[in-house]
Amino acid sequence: MQTYFIEISYLLASVLFILGLKGLSHPETAKRGMHLAEFGMLMAIIGTLMHHEIITYTWIITGLVIGSLAGLAMGVWVPMTAMPQRTALSHAFGAFAAALVGISEYYRLGGHLDKITMGALGFEVMLGALTTTGSLLAFAKLQGMVRGTPLTFKGQNVFNMLLLATTIGIFIYLIVVPGSMPLFFVMVGLALVFGLLLVMPIGAADMPVVMSLLNSYAGLASAATGFVLSNNVLIIAGTLDGFSGFILSVLMCRAMNRSITNVLFGAFGSAAAATGQIEGQHGTMREVNLDDVAVQLAYAKQVVFVPGYGMATAQAQHAVKGLADTLEKRGVTVKYGIHPVAGRMPGHMNVLLAEANVPYSSLYELEQINPEFPATDVAIVIGANDVVNPDARDNPSSPIAGMPIIEVDHAKSVVVLKRGQGKGFSGLENPLFFKDVTGMLYGDAKESLTRLMQAVQQA
Ligand code: NAP
Repeated sequence: MQTYFIEISYLLASVLFILGLKGLSHPETAKRGMHLAEFGMLMAIIGTLMHHEIITYTWIITGLVIGSLAGLAMGVWVPMTAMPQRTALSHAFGAFAAALVGISEYYRLGGHLDKITMGALGFEVMLGALTTTGSLLAFAKLQGMVRGTPLTFKGQNVFNMLLLATTIGIFIYLIVVPGSMPLFFVMVGLALVFGLLLVMPIGAADMPVVMSLLNSYAGLASAATGFVLSNNVLIIAGTLDGFSGFILSVLMCRAMNRSITNVLFGAFGSAAAATGQIEGQHGTMREVNLDDVAVQLAYAKQVVFVPGYGMATAQAQHAVKGLADTLEKRGVTVKYGIHPVAGRMPGHMNVLLAEANVPYSSLYELEQINPEFPATDVAIVIGANDVVNPDARDNPSSPIAGMPIIEVDHAKSVVVLKRGQGKGFSGLENPLFFKDVTGMLYGDAKESLTRLMQAVQQA
């Protein structure tokens, strides 16, 4: 009866996870998807607590209380801008848990395992260990505790490959001879070092791709844990996590027109920055006056907002909505052009704008918004840089050549809100800022938008 109840709750949890993922694939249903997945997790926890192998609940309850308090604190205090590093930390915890389960199982059984269990356990520990250190370094880079630019050395890729090959070699040896405990711990140590080396040459803004890849590893490690513990929900949830993470990484790379190997081994931030310096200036930037922009906006027929990372750092989403409402009251059509990799994580702009109650129907994807620009009077670029860089379209030798961009330069007029001459993630110069059609409105995006709203109200 107990086993029956556990399996039913696991089945329910798995169905809810799948429905949750389906919901997350669309902004309109994302919230519901999240709630379904949360409910699924509750089912999985209840099912697990029913296991007859549990001798005492003391440690489980202690863990649940500590974990829930930590989760609650992170949910309340971590700002939206710090979401990528928060996610990295969660991955590190998840992967560390999977690695610890594997290590304790190996230790408990004293290495007396059959080949299949050893294969699953070794896979779990290896992926769990490298994901732990990789995610911790990703966290440190994104939090600014470690330099965000790629850290490289000569022969790095060859060295990393050799290290990985050695780790996998030991793993295969252990499948054949599972009893060698020292070798098992050497494998764990090498995997921990490999995690660090894997993330070292990757720039901070490529971290979301790496993190969703690490997420995928953590998922696969959990699936392997499920095989070791004969736990069906871990196998299903781990596999879902593993593959959805991988698909997300591929989609992000596609949106940047880069391959996964280029992200992982290309040391993108450093090379791009160097090229940017060689290219140098493209002319002079034209600074515009806030009142002139307000008049332009007030008498426009159609205005398109194009947000980027700067909107997130300025937390300007509510100010954007305020300006949009003021314009709409005057009969101006307002649209938002959303690039798939604007900001620092997938859906970054969607989440922020949804928080400010911008209706989903006003958000346009790249392919939908680009044909709109010739009929757009003013395109307002809010702290976006790389995603509106025309070099990606016009300059085949640019490091970001081929990356699809939001073609604001086809609008009748472009106003760029940014604080100064700061570059975007790629470190490249942006010729858009030097075009005749473009005016630069310097200042913090939130402040500029608030002042623009007041000026439009008075226009
Ligand atoms: P971006 O190229 O990083 O540029 C952001 C701009 O915002 C900067 O030029 C900065 O200029 C400005 N800014 C910063 N703080 C500001 C503030 N408080 N007020 C006004 N402006 C501010 O951003 P993006 O155009 O969104 O491009 C995203 C980049 O991240 C792309 O290169 C993309 O490939 C990469 N990436 C994204 C993802 C993802 O999932 N979203 C994943 C991997 C990589 P100032 O310093 O002059 O103000």
